[in-house]
Amino acid sequence: MGEQRSGRGHGGGVRAGRERGRWGHSAGRSTYIPRSSSTALSGYTRPLARLIDQFERLPGIGPRTAQRLALHLLRQPEEQIRSFADALLAARSQVGQCQRCFHLSADPLCEICRNPERSNGQICVVADSRDLLAMERTREYHGSYHVLGGLISPMDGIGPELLQIQPLVRRVAGNPDATAAPPVHEVILALTPSVEGDTTSLYLARLLRPFTEVSRIAYGLPMGSELEYADEVTLARAFEGRRPVE
Ligand SMILES: [Zn+2]
Repeated sequence: MGEQRSGRGHGGGVRAGRERGRWGHSAGRSTYIPRSSSTALSGYTRPLARLIDQFERLPGIGPRTAQRLALHLLRQPEEQIRSFADALLAARSQVGQCQRCFHLSADPLCEICRNPERSNGQICVVADSRDLLAMERTREYHGSYHVLGGLISPMDGIGPELLQIQPLVRRVAGNPDATAAPPVHEVILALTPSVEGDTTSLYLARLLRPFTEVSRIAYGLPMGSELEYADEVTLARAFEGRRPVE
């Protein structure tokens, strides 16, 4: 309670600015001054303050949660801490993007693209992998995905060329001499209801309509809300209520 959640920037990647903690000096000793307070925090040994500071850099983690997590970790056996650190480094070095849908993947093709039970005839287009995971939580959808990597936002200098739009068009238009891939019969746009989401949906609909049916999910969600934070039922209903883009 009372903790500040970092917002998601339009198109992703933009971090909410919160003042960082810093080291100060008083009476010849270094003292940790947390970002959340203008006064020096007493009672923290330096390595602990450093750990708390690392947690506070994470989105959605305020000073009190950061302290709770740091103190919890200190009580764990060293083996557990080592495997936690290994998991962080392994995820950072091994997780890349699926070559087909651009979802996070440690392999050339992600788990969903490799699953023979998922239909390639339907492609659900999302802004980022967090939205894909939100759609997966509904368990309503059994087709494939395409992760754009953001939304068109001229205000932020994000044009279509910075997003994975050409690979999507290639997936939908298909390779004329390839018979292996079944045709895509529907593209479902699952983009946040916002100016950027609307702009991107209209842009994609114009590009893709010559090749396939294009629909956009209906929203029982207020304008400007985030797909990622929607509850499963609302998201599932919105998905059922999708309709063709006019
Ligand atoms: Zn994939």
